[in-house]
Amino acid sequence: MHPTLPTLQPINMILKTPYYLIDENRLRHNLLKIQSVKELSGAKSVLALKCFSTWSVFDLMSQYLDGTTSSSLYEARLGHETFHGEVHAYSVAFSAEDIQELKAYSNKIIFNSISQLKAFHDQVSHLDIGLRINPQISFSDYDIADPARRYSRLGVTDYNAIHQVLHLINGVMFHFNCENEDFEAYSAMLDTISETYVELLPQLEWVSLGGGVAFTSENYPLEKFAQKLKAFSQRFEIQVYLEPGDAVVTKSTDLVTTVLDIVHNEIDIAIVDSSIGTHMLDLLEYRAEATIKGSNQGEYRYMIAGKTCLAGDIFGTFHFKSKLKVGDQITIADAGGYTMVKMNWFNGLKMPSIVVKRLDGIHEIVKTFDYTDFKNNLS
Ligand SMILES: *Cc1c(COP(=O)(O)O)cnc(C)c1O
Repeated sequence: MHPTLPTLQPINMILKTPYYLIDENRLRHNLLKIQSVKELSGAKSVLALKCFSTWSVFDLMSQYLDGTTSSSLYEARLGHETFHGEVHAYSVAFSAEDIQELKAYSNKIIFNSISQLKAFHDQVSHLDIGLRINPQISFSDYDIADPARRYSRLGVTDYNAIHQVLHLINGVMFHFNCENEDFEAYSAMLDTISETYVELLPQLEWVSLGGGVAFTSENYPLEKFAQKLKAFSQRFEIQVYLEPGDAVVTKSTDLVTTVLDIVHNEIDIAIVDSSIGTHMLDLLEYRAEATIKGSNQGEYRYMIAGKTCLAGDIFGTFHFKSKLKVGDQITIADAGGYTMVKMNWFNGLKMPSIVVKRLDGIHEIVKTFDYTDFKNNLS
């Protein structure tokens, strides 16, 4: 169905940039870690589709994960159609129409508020029903991503109110981390949650601990993490779920670009055929620098910038071993999570193709975009 490319010729000589390159072997590296957490702790993992929904690799992912979780009706439907496994449906706010349609797609519906739980419970009482709790503790370096920030609308804070609706739910969800690499901090927060909800948890069948934990990272103490989850699960006799997004796809994907021009304004600036605003939006939202492969080890310093008209469209400033020239490829690492799902047509930039390097090494172009997609996106 999709074109496959011969492996003999270097891939970068055939493919037109920009493209995302998803490497299934690197993906499996993370998936195997998630599987071992399940084996050691019993905790099931469902992929957070809002981070990554490139369904061409879901056949591989479904072998290691228990299903998907979603932030909207469309994500839940995608999980139902393309991923073998459980479909958890969560949304900050469902509409009545969402609920009607979701009934056909979901195993679990997790409400964000007591008002939504009460409004829709009767229509979905044959499913597992959960409620999101805001434990009022969190780990996040960014205020914009802190689910327990002041005035947060993400989950219920009122402890007594939760107890009053206990008969309507059989599970709860806590999502309280963002890019947390610190196991000790996580462990301490889980202890706090255990104490705060010590009466609630034993009355439930399942608890989801959300995402935002970097447990597939190289130096993360995976076994300690699994033991912690197991102890929590055993103490309350409860099924634990995790909702990893970034941890599933971290370091699995590159964004490959080409230098189109080099200009000079006090410093050397290489302009590539991509943009942070359109293809790596998180860098803009979090004011973060990209990671560029093969950089930061030479004497030639360049600002790598995107080709939109946004003045701050900058991947970062890096050192290279040799001078850059027009036509050189610049590969941005770790471009799997929160990238493809946030692509947009700003400035009419061509969206990167999506290429999958399958387990057997064969490259498959699973998606290309052209002018028609741009035109049809609006009318
Ligand atoms: C964003 C989100 C996740 C996934 O977070 P990652 O940081 O990508 O692991 C999981 N659960 C909920 C409720 C979320 O909002």
